[in-house]
Amino acid sequence: GRKHDGKNGLLVYHPALMDAVRERHDIEASIELGLREDLFEVYLQPIVDLGTGRIAGFEALMRLSHPEQGMLPSSRVIEIAEETGLIGRIGERVLEKAIGHLKRLSALDGIESTYLALNLSPLQFEESLPTRLAALLLKHEIASTRIVIEITEAVLLADNPDMHMVMAHLSEFGCRIALDDFGTGYSSLSYLNRFQVDIVKIDQSFTRTLASDQPDVRRKSRMLIKGIRTISQQMGCAVVAEGIENKEQWLSLRRLGIDHGQGYLFSAPLSIDGLIEMLEEKSEVKHGLTSSERLEE
Ligand code: C2E
Ligand code: MG
Ligand code: MG
Ligand code: MG
Repeated sequence: GRKHDGKNGLLVYHPALMDAVRERHDIEASIELGLREDLFEVYLQPIVDLGTGRIAGFEALMRLSHPEQGMLPSSRVIEIAEETGLIGRIGERVLEKAIGHLKRLSALDGIESTYLALNLSPLQFEESLPTRLAALLLKHEIASTRIVIEITEAVLLADNPDMHMVMAHLSEFGCRIALDDFGTGYSSLSYLNRFQVDIVKIDQSFTRTLASDQPDVRRKSRMLIKGIRTISQQMGCAVVAEGIENKEQWLSLRRLGIDHGQGYLFSAPLSIDGLIEMLEEKSEVKHGLTSSERLEE
């Protein structure tokens, strides 16, 4: 963490830079500790049918909590794990735990045919992935058609030579492919043409602006969402909206014809025990809306 001072040739330490170096080092150390001590957990967030409120699936989200520092920010953990190459080992743990969780959930009434959405980084598209996934599904007696693989444009941009073949194998095998954070990266639209995509996940930034206090911003985000929906559906893709935090956003998305959605309004990502407890208590999340909510609008 040293920076060359161009004026007098002295090496000076910049506090902000030192903080960044320390933060990175701490997270790297936590990842190594997490792998050694099996501290990686998988939380699940329900994805619901926006029309009925019923659960259609769950997104698996990695969680790493440090014994003293508590929960670490997942996006940073993933970023650093990708840079250091540790993502492969984390991904392996996440895959195993997530599928074990789906098995447990499948025992619950009304949850038998829900899907599991797994986030995968570019480096995880190894030749052996389909076989490893198949072995896990066989072990837990779970149909491959219940698996959704969420990728971002980074996966497609990385141009990993194995990726096309791996994606084709996963599709043949019955898994669906979801394009995550849609609408935020570069040339999103062209990917719908070049790859076999089954589900488009509209980025949460669009959901957020849908409830903006500026009417013009609200109107524009409705138009963008409508456009994404039309294109996606015409290409045969289902559409999922992310980051639904209030009823206004939910109702707007429903009016815009979006099939599914997820967000704090329905449920935050929960530990498996927390989720099972919630599903046993809150029947509306499991069994859909009450008739008054369904009719309201
Ligand atoms: P993502 O796949 O787009 O996941 C959605 C993120 O939105 C999650 O953040 C989730 O907790 C958060 N979220 C859900 N509902 C709401 C809401 O109503 N409002 C807001 N503001 N946020 C909401 P999280 O869990 O921190 O994960 C961040 C990112 O890290 C994920 O974005 C994904 O790209 C990556 N990630 C998480 N788990 C894994 C994993 O196991 N493997 C890989 N490769 N990446 C993962
Ligand atoms: Mg995702
Ligand atoms: Mg996303
Ligand atoms: Mg994201």
